[in-house]
Amino acid sequence: MAFDSLSEKLQGVFKNLRSKGRLSEADVKAALKEVKMALLEADVNFKVVKQFTNTVTERAIGSDVMNGLNPGQMVIKIVNEELINLMGSEVTDITYGTGGAITTIMMVGLQGAGKTTTTAKLAGKVKQRGKKPLLVACDIYRPAAIEQLQINGKKQDVEVFSLGDKEKPVKIAKEAMDYAKKNGFDVVIFDTAGRLHIDEDMMNELAAIKSNIDILNTILVVDAMTGQDAVNVSQTFDEKIGIDGVIITKLDGDTRGGAALSIKAVTGKPILFAGMGEKLSDLEQFHPDRMASRILG
Ligand code: GDP
Repeated sequence: MAFDSLSEKLQGVFKNLRSKGRLSEADVKAALKEVKMALLEADVNFKVVKQFTNTVTERAIGSDVMNGLNPGQMVIKIVNEELINLMGSEVTDITYGTGGAITTIMMVGLQGAGKTTTTAKLAGKVKQRGKKPLLVACDIYRPAAIEQLQINGKKQDVEVFSLGDKEKPVKIAKEAMDYAKKNGFDVVIFDTAGRLHIDEDMMNELAAIKSNIDILNTILVVDAMTGQDAVNVSQTFDEKIGIDGVIITKLDGDTRGGAALSIKAVTGKPILFAGMGEKLSDLEQFHPDRMASRILG
């Protein structure tokens, strides 16, 4: 499960801390050193870890905490609050169009991250909100991508717009918008091409879609299991095309949690949802407070 190994380590540190009555500054510092190690082992970005432990140390060594009735518990509370801060404190949602404007969502990401699956999962979430989503197949390069989107669209009972793999993505996107307007769709989700590595062509194509269509949400899909690579990919996509948020997939298999804990702190962009399995219903809104509770047990 997500965060299991990190959780186990932190719980060990805190059990020790809780068992002590009064705490000395040295006790707190020793515990936070162990927290630091656990976060680094979980593959959290080292700058993020440094900032995090500095903030927690500063707060924990304050006289209110040290002279309080239950200092161990207070230190744990501070760690919990700062973990929540790290992940962005608040739940962030899709930006919906106002005044009758269609909500446009462009899904981007590297091949294998789970983009096509997540696109269909997201369509299901949007439908639950009482909206009428249209999926658009703009990934014309991976042979099975269009068919995969169609199969998943059918499972979600969501229509898929495709012009096959011979037209340019910008043309497909434009025609899809016309189709959506004529047919009363209020959310349009574009599945774009993923490549194995970030390259110039890929970025140019995504930028071309963005300059032709009024995209309200550019959402990057990253694989939690890739740890700091996911963080680097997020940073690069944000620099090159600008992203509004991230969906982190495969959190169900990520026992470390380094990407989930670093992305907001490094890029400033929030995680909106987390993929928790292969089924199309396995997409959860990302709640920083619930994630922190999951880690601290
Ligand atoms: P794309 O190349 O980015 O479009 O990736 P796909 O959507 O084809 O997904 C790649 C693989 O990851 C598939 O086997 C998916 O079932 C799997 N996958 C996607 N999201 C999740 C997730 O949240 N959890 C797990 N366990 N598997 C996932």
